[in-house]
Amino acid sequence: MTGPADALVIGGGPAGAAAAALLARAGRHVVLLERDTAPRDKVCGEFLSVEAVRYLTALGLDLRRLGAVPVDRVRLAGRSGRAAEARLPFAAMSLTRHALDAALLDLAAEAGAEIRRGVRVEALAPRDGLWHARPGGGEPVESRAAFLATGKHELRGWQRPPGGQNGLLGFKLHWRLAPAQDEALARSVEIALFPGGYAGLEPVEGGRANLCLLVEEPRFAAIGADWEALLAAIRAEAPLLDLRLGGATPCTLRPLAIGRLPFGHVQREAEGAAQPWRLGDQAAVAPSFTGDGVAIALHSAQLAAAAYLDGGAPAAFYRRLARDVAGPVRRALWLARLMVRAQAQSPLAVAARAAPALLRLCAAVTRLPAGSGVTSMPPH
Ligand SMILES: Cc1cc2nc3c(=O)[nH]c(=O)nc-3n(C[C@H](O)[C@H](O)[C@H](O)COP(=O)(O)OP(=O)(O)OC[C@H]3O[C@@H](n4cnc5c(N)ncnc54)[C@H](O)[C@@H]3O)c2cc1C
Repeated sequence: MTGPADALVIGGGPAGAAAAALLARAGRHVVLLERDTAPRDKVCGEFLSVEAVRYLTALGLDLRRLGAVPVDRVRLAGRSGRAAEARLPFAAMSLTRHALDAALLDLAAEAGAEIRRGVRVEALAPRDGLWHARPGGGEPVESRAAFLATGKHELRGWQRPPGGQNGLLGFKLHWRLAPAQDEALARSVEIALFPGGYAGLEPVEGGRANLCLLVEEPRFAAIGADWEALLAAIRAEAPLLDLRLGGATPCTLRPLAIGRLPFGHVQREAEGAAQPWRLGDQAAVAPSFTGDGVAIALHSAQLAAAAYLDGGAPAAFYRRLARDVAGPVRRALWLARLMVRAQAQSPLAVAARAAPALLRLCAAVTRLPAGSGVTSMPPH
């Protein structure tokens, strides 16, 4: 590379890829460093809210062509297995992160961003008016601006504080359901509550279903920190999930797992004179019940790219982002705390069955607000 780049983006998930595409389309020289050598699945429910769908479409992705599956119903079941059911208050979709992240990075590359895969950044520091990134292997990168989009992963020296709900472990595994269960699940996301956690099951492309769950660390430790034992325990406690997984085959032997999730963290202030622009989960981590994490990641990319291109600074961007996301994240945090509490689960399930509109209300109040600009995204 000759001379510094205009913008360095660290991390090629939805936030980093979208920011790289927007900056490159505006004519900036963008270098994006992604530690994975190839697209892969990630721990995620793979639910794309209406806001995420709007952003992705505006960026130029054809979700149907990628195989995204429409989702328009939600079911919630507790220990009794009897489910509350409601139509979602918006049209959602479901797409594997393998497909989504790959398509977004392709989009960034087509826009002119230089994508370097298999490069893990180990250090990032400002010096003499430039940002210096030191990858584990390969050449150092210099840039005039730096965008930190490493998702759940911390970069040394740039750690985030804990969130309002910590100590949960996330697991994710794709399944091939038995035909009758596949049919029963069609177009729905099903949430099963079990003591110490909750699981979501929804169809994804390729005739598979994605099982993604969160469980409190002590619960997992108490059953020997063993995935098979955890799954057996959950199936015994969540009859609807057990029914769906009857006769199903897992697509991989082991699930993907993730820990140390700072749910509820929202970056509100700048961290000092020289700072990178934090995007996506680096700036705000919605408890996963909301299914709006990808939308928030895309929203942060859009706001930060616009602010940067306008000559702005991260501080004002954080204030604007917090104004848009702090409310939905706070409400989602409150709900997520209730959902893992064993004593609250039966009353929750009973209330949702008595008044299914509650499910619609929960889905509605944990979304990005209409005034946040999502609806006015110009189509690409
Ligand atoms: C259990 C669970 C379920 C969820 N379900 C949903 C859902 O159904 N719908 C939804 O919208 N959201 C969901 N989310 C949230 C969603 O996954 C995140 O909000 C979203 O992935 C954030 O995007 P991102 O680009 O910030 O980070 P990521 O998608 O995590 O991307 C970060 C990228 O940075 C790369 N990287 C990390 N460190 C480095 C480094 N040092 N150098 C170079 N590259 C690096 C990683 O390899 C990765 O590709 C869920 C989250 C969890 C934990």
